[in-house]
Amino acid sequence: RLISGATTSPKEDGEERALRPRQLTEYVGQVKIREQLEIFITAARNRKESLDHTLLFGPPGLGKTTLAHIIAREMGVNLRQTSGPVLERQGDLAAILSNLEPNDVLFIDEIHRLNPVVEEILYPALEDFQLDIMIGEGPGARSVKLDLPPFTLVGATTRAGMLTNPLRDRFGIVARLEFYTPDELTRIVTRSAGLLDVHIDAGGAKEIARRSRGTPRIANRLLRRVRDFAEVKAQGEVTDAVADLALKMLDVDAIGLDVMDRKLLLAVIEKFGGGPVGVENLAAAIGEERDTIEDVLEPFLIQQGYLQRTPRGRLATALAYRHFGIAGMPTREG
Ligand code: ADP
Repeated sequence: RLISGATTSPKEDGEERALRPRQLTEYVGQVKIREQLEIFITAARNRKESLDHTLLFGPPGLGKTTLAHIIAREMGVNLRQTSGPVLERQGDLAAILSNLEPNDVLFIDEIHRLNPVVEEILYPALEDFQLDIMIGEGPGARSVKLDLPPFTLVGATTRAGMLTNPLRDRFGIVARLEFYTPDELTRIVTRSAGLLDVHIDAGGAKEIARRSRGTPRIANRLLRRVRDFAEVKAQGEVTDAVADLALKMLDVDAIGLDVMDRKLLLAVIEKFGGGPVGVENLAAAIGEERDTIEDVLEPFLIQQGYLQRTPRGRLATALAYRHFGIAGMPTREG
């Protein structure tokens, strides 16, 4: 995806890291999660214990990785970062676990994509801080038990429902990240503009925030694109009018939907009579992966009330018809 999808360049990766809040007090929004973590972290630190294993779930770009780094920093420990798909064999995880120092944070992104064989050695590690692996193969194989230091697993996933029950049960703290409000995103854009030395007024920040799909990563990315536009076309000054022109050029519409969002909604309306349509059919119709639809596109459209998820499939709402100025929403029963 052009705008809100995968990162576009190493330079942007670096800039994204630079914009990352480093302390809980800098972390905007997610008030409940922040309040809870503040208490749990303080209590664990005072007892000189590791923080309970923590599961963070929610759509991409809402601040899961950022929060994992903040937890480690506030606990005063190291953070080791890996991801589900990277850990192919038991040995990959064993190597990381056996190198942890007491109370360290191990961050596993996309934890729902962990190989079941690897997940199996994670259970005793989480529960008893024990590593229990087989060394060698065939008749010479033997099982080896190792004591691990206490540590905190921070797992991140787009959908908690994709975790196996035994894994989910091992998290003492489970936090669901919500989309950010326009006000919260305005604070994030304003802060980022300060760090990137972008000249932006209150209206400009508000306009970008309003059209960022409730997502800080998108807000920061749009800010960088609007900055480019402003430097070339508006002497570097980002006002609401400049932001509006730049966002139009980027194909972000008045309520922040991008090309793929509109493609999805229009497919439901025009190709499937407003729905219900199953996600597989929808995926084929718009040429997008089912996972991308479920993890990236749908959550925001559902939260904003443009799309409904029913047992029979996805439905476009009256709000979606109105947004596209399409009359003739079908009447439905049930
Ligand atoms: P995720 O891991 O959920 O995909 P990230 O933690 O990588 O998301 O966040 C993406 C970017 O958004 C970060 O680089 C950070 O600059 C910004 N960001 C995320 N959450 C917040 C927040 N609560 N306050 C300020 N900036 C945030």
